[in-house]
Amino acid sequence: MITKNADNPTKTTEVEQNTLLEIKNLKKYFPIKHGILQRTVGHIKAVDDISLTVKKGETLGLVGESGCGKSTIGRTIIRLYEPTEGEITFKNQNISHMKERELRQDVRKNIQMIFQDPFASLNPRKTLRMILGEPLKIHYNHSRKKQEEIIGELLEKVGLSSKFLNRYPHEFSGGQRQRIGIARVLTLNPDLVIADEAVSALDVSIQAQITNLMQDLQAELGLTYIFISHDLSVVRHISDRVGIMYLGKLMELGTKADLFQEPLHPYSQALLSAVPTPKKQKTVQRERILLKGDIPSPANPPKGCVFHTRCPHVMDRCKQEVPSLLQVKKDHFVACHLY
Ligand code: SF4
Repeated sequence: MITKNADNPTKTTEVEQNTLLEIKNLKKYFPIKHGILQRTVGHIKAVDDISLTVKKGETLGLVGESGCGKSTIGRTIIRLYEPTEGEITFKNQNISHMKERELRQDVRKNIQMIFQDPFASLNPRKTLRMILGEPLKIHYNHSRKKQEEIIGELLEKVGLSSKFLNRYPHEFSGGQRQRIGIARVLTLNPDLVIADEAVSALDVSIQAQITNLMQDLQAELGLTYIFISHDLSVVRHISDRVGIMYLGKLMELGTKADLFQEPLHPYSQALLSAVPTPKKQKTVQRERILLKGDIPSPANPPKGCVFHTRCPHVMDRCKQEVPSLLQVKKDHFVACHLY
C-alpha cells in the first residue's frame, strides 16, 4: 500500500528502503550584490523549496527551460554549491552541511558528475593515462599494474581502446571525449551519477550512442542517474521518472509513461505539446500550446504559483497561494491548484 510521508510528499513508505538520495525542502539562493560595498540587495532563487527522492538503480530526468534551476540542484547535491536551506540525505546520511574533509572521505567518490563540455573538464596537458589514473591515485592505493588494468577495463567498457592511453584530449572527437568523461567518473565506482546536459553539445546520432552507453553501464554496474537536460526527447529516451521544473520549483513529478502520455500541470502540458510524438507510439497528437510572455526573473519570481503570469488556467487563488506538490495517483505528483 502506498502512503504519503508527511515531511516529503514525494516519498512513499514503499520506496523508503529503496531510496538512495532524498532532498527535503532544498533551497539555493544566490545573493545579488550591488555598489562599492557589495551589499546584498536581493537573491536569485535558483532552487526554491524542492523535495524529491531518487531510488536505487533508476534514472530520474530533470527537465525545464534554461534558468529553471535544474543544474543548480545537481551542483548543490554534489556540494559544489552550499545549500541555503533544506536537507540532502545520501545513503541515509545527512550530507547537507558536511565539511569538505568528510565529504572527500565519504561522499565525493560515491556521487559523481558528468558535465556538458567534457573538453573543458579534461586537462589538455594530460594524457588519458594521467586523466584516468589521477582519481584512482587519490582515492586508492593500487599498484601501478593494477591501476593500468582498471584503466584498460574502463576504456573497454566505454567503447574506447587502451591504445589511446598516451593521447591528449584534443586528439578525440566530442563523442569520444564524453566517453572519456564517463570513464573518469567510473574510476571511483560511484553509486549516483549526475549527468548535467551530458549530451546537449553532441550531434543527434552521437547523443543516442552516449545515452545507450549510459543505459548499458547502468544495467551492468547498477548505477543510479539524475539526468538533467532541457531536451525532452532525450529525457524521454533515458528516464524512468521525470521531474518538470519552472523558476526553481518542481511543477510535476511522475513516471515517464504518465508524464509523456498524460501531463497534468499546465506548464508540463505546454512544454510537452512542443515535442514530436514518435510514430510507433499511440499517444494522441497534442495541439501545440503556446505560452504568453517570457519566464519571469528568478530574482523576482511571481507571488503564489510562480507560473501564474503565463498559465492559461490562472485563478485568483493562484496569485496568492503557492500550490504544494501533491500526490494525485501512485508515483504522480503535481503542484497546481487545479488538482
Ligand atoms: Fe495555473 Fe493556478 Fe495551476 Fe499555477 S496553480 S499552474 S496558475 S492553475
